Amino acid sequence: MKKNYMFTPGPTMVPSEVLLAEAAPMIHHRTPQFSHIMGEVVDGLKKLFGTREDVYLIMGTGTAAMEAAVANICSPGDKAVCAAGGKFGERWAGLAEAYGCNAVRIEVEWGNSLTVAQAEAALKDHPDARALYITQSETSTGALTDVEAIAQLTRESRTLLVVDAITGIGIHPFKMDDWGVDVVVSGSQKGCMIPPGLAFIAVSARVWEIVEACSSARYYLDLRAMRKNWENKATPFTAAVSLVRALHKSLQMIFEEGLDEVHARHARLAGAARAAVRAMGLELLPRNPVNGLTAAYGPEGMDTGDLIKLMRDKYGVTMAGGQGGLKGKIFRIGHMGYVSEEDLLVGIETLEKALKDLGYDSPLGAGLRAARETLA
Ligand SMILES: *Cc1c(COP(=O)(O)O)cnc(C)c1O
Repeated sequence: MKKNYMFTPGPTMVPSEVLLAEAAPMIHHRTPQFSHIMGEVVDGLKKLFGTREDVYLIMGTGTAAMEAAVANICSPGDKAVCAAGGKFGERWAGLAEAYGCNAVRIEVEWGNSLTVAQAEAALKDHPDARALYITQSETSTGALTDVEAIAQLTRESRTLLVVDAITGIGIHPFKMDDWGVDVVVSGSQKGCMIPPGLAFIAVSARVWEIVEACSSARYYLDLRAMRKNWENKATPFTAAVSLVRALHKSLQMIFEEGLDEVHARHARLAGAARAAVRAMGLELLPRNPVNGLTAAYGPEGMDTGDLIKLMRDKYGVTMAGGQGGLKGKIFRIGHMGYVSEEDLLVGIETLEKALKDLGYDSPLGAGLRAARETLA
């Protein structure tokens, strides 16, 4: 028998309780019963985002919310400054270009985090920028950006701060209102521990004027329609009823554990994974790592694609490889969402076994011991 363990940075493992909630009989999306569920879901998301603003649900994956954060804010020709330190930072620039905007990239070496100095220089060079687009947790490299520090620069300027917190929300603390972030997006299949298919977006009060004036074409992703419909606790189009039910349950589980404890658990898992990787004699990629995944270089000369494939096919453990220029060079252990300390130990032991299978010479058990000691 092989069990499917997902140590991937999205989609992530889904609790049985959540799968059962998702399987509940269909109800219509324009009923008091569904509006009640939606109301509780949005209240829960507001806590995760750290905001009193409404959080809007989009039926799509995280990228749909990213697209909404471009289509509603940047008009063709507008300048969008994008921190391009990985695949997802690059996605901001790609989206801006798709909408005919002038995407200005802040080049951040993959594995590094956008620094305050870099952001400050970019804002000084481009005072006319409509928005600065950043990524809290860059999933392709595992690098963490200090959103609070960057927000101190933008909150006094006319340039809006837009944050992809897709692998940040529910993993790292996020305080949209206190930090002064203008737009935050997230998605369902990461820290929220439900299947892919929902995206979330929240915007601050000062953004609405820009949304109204924005001349980019939009229909499905029009924030004005989302706001209008939410006056009646409804969505503009058919809601993904079953996914919303799943989210309703997963948010209950998050608040039962306690949001602070959820964040603390991710920090413990990340600490243990990093210690294990180092004890195996391997090197971490990011200097300032996130808590939702651990990205590390494979042993010299090993294609990490082979490592990922072996773990999946022989042991039933799915981890992620590298993307873009890091393909074959790194592996990524996802430990976000529904992952316990015991689960992580299974992942680490499998990683050690698979490395050995592929001829990597390192004392078997060193990683597991380091993880256990860190967790103890
Ligand atoms: C997963 C992810 C996304 C969204 O990807 P989708 O495939 O559209 O869900 C965006 N940004 C980051 C940082 C992510 O990890």
